[in-house]
Amino acid sequence: MKTLLILGASGDLTGRLLLPGLARLVSRGRAAGLTLVGAGSDDWTPDQWLERVEESFADANSQAEAYGRRELKRIRETTSYHRLDVTAEGQLAGLLAELEGPVAVYFALPPRVSQLACEALAPGQVPAGTRLVMEKPFGSSEESARHLNHTLAALVPEDHIHRVDHFLGKATVLNILGLRFANTFLEPVWNRNHIEKVEIVFDEDLALEGRARYYDGAGALRDMIQSHLLQIMALMAIEPPASVDERDLRDAVATVLRASSIKAPYAKSTRRARYTAGSIGGRKVPDYAKEEGVDAARGTETLAEVEVEINNWRWQGVPFILRSGKALGTKRKEAVVTFRPVPHLPRGFTGVDFPNQLRIGFGPDTLQFDVDVNGPGEVLSLDRATLKAELSASELLPYGEVLEGVLTGDPLLSVRADTAEDCWRILEPVLKAWARDSAPLEEYAAGSAGPDGWPR
Ligand code: NDP
Repeated sequence: MKTLLILGASGDLTGRLLLPGLARLVSRGRAAGLTLVGAGSDDWTPDQWLERVEESFADANSQAEAYGRRELKRIRETTSYHRLDVTAEGQLAGLLAELEGPVAVYFALPPRVSQLACEALAPGQVPAGTRLVMEKPFGSSEESARHLNHTLAALVPEDHIHRVDHFLGKATVLNILGLRFANTFLEPVWNRNHIEKVEIVFDEDLALEGRARYYDGAGALRDMIQSHLLQIMALMAIEPPASVDERDLRDAVATVLRASSIKAPYAKSTRRARYTAGSIGGRKVPDYAKEEGVDAARGTETLAEVEVEINNWRWQGVPFILRSGKALGTKRKEAVVTFRPVPHLPRGFTGVDFPNQLRIGFGPDTLQFDVDVNGPGEVLSLDRATLKAELSASELLPYGEVLEGVLTGDPLLSVRADTAEDCWRILEPVLKAWARDSAPLEEYAAGSAGPDGWPR
């Protein structure tokens, strides 16, 4: 790619994640020859844009070698800012015609604005080789995701559309695949005969942090489970692919998601809750419902849990429990595989017989395997030991990995069109049931482990 055009240059995503991710990539010499262009509806001077770029590049610049600093300087010296309303006919097309191609267009815009911007483009106005990068949430229902897919498909080929899932850094994806498919001992037990349940958890200790405008219309189910956690679930559950190239892997992911559903009654297969006032690590957190910009009557959940079934030979009957929430006392970002108990524990053993658990931590990627061992001193007494390993990390930030995929034309980390629709298909019955209040909206104090009665 010759040019990276960021639409929404003044937005939060651009300043906090995209530009720092880009800086890390550039400073490692992995975006040679790239020109950065920012665009937004604000009437910014070139200096205002430059100031934003410099601020976001500062961290990478201070850590870079001489070559990296030169590259960052080159980007700063050649970058430009353009004021435009992307939804107005002809404006984005006009800018695309001016830029040196091929261009990657990053829609760092509110989802509705991204959709209107794509609808304002005609196929002939998008030069060959252009890549379109769409942020989450991709649509707001199966129908709207399909509609957006149709709009995009008229503009560029599918392999030039990147539906970003930044949660899945390349290292994390490859770590899961490496663990599962480069070890003979796991695959024979990786099925319903030996696995009791799989939990995928993303608990944050961050609260709303001023993001009511977006979050109150989304909630935990749409924000985290619809996109990120279903993708991780699919990687944990796929059949062994012939290769880890884009086609084989994305086919395998799509097959798992097509077989997945959440069964009624939703009061049993799902839970939702909202945090009330509390404190996290000595920091006072106000009641979510009273936060500025929140409409309490909407009943937006800040913690969601769903039990997904994968209806195929390998996984029939194994619950995949996906949970994510805000303002929780302990931060957790992991997949936990719980194995079935042994069929017979020889008489004579005492102590606690824990189930074997394999825990894969995400960002930093870690692996922990809990096994029963004979305890110290009393050899017949069972005890738990944990085998630990740190998995390889990427030198890029998550958004650096996303951008590298876009700039090198690798769609591996992008969600494919059919999968984007399927993720909504899986969750839509739950969203409808919750809108009818079919599952109670429970409460938990900020800083706690969740509502009383939920599994710990
Ligand atoms: P913001 O509201 O902070 O920024 C949106 C940007 O879009 C602003 O720069 C805004 O400019 C610009 N904009 C709005 N309307 C137009 C228009 N008609 N023409 C040109 N520019 C316009 O949103 P975020 O940065 O938080 O989010 C952007 C996207 O990224 C969303 O899809 C979000 O879901 C996703 N995302 C965000 C994350 C985050 O942490 N922020 C994390 C993951 C995904 P102006 O203010 O001048 O109107």
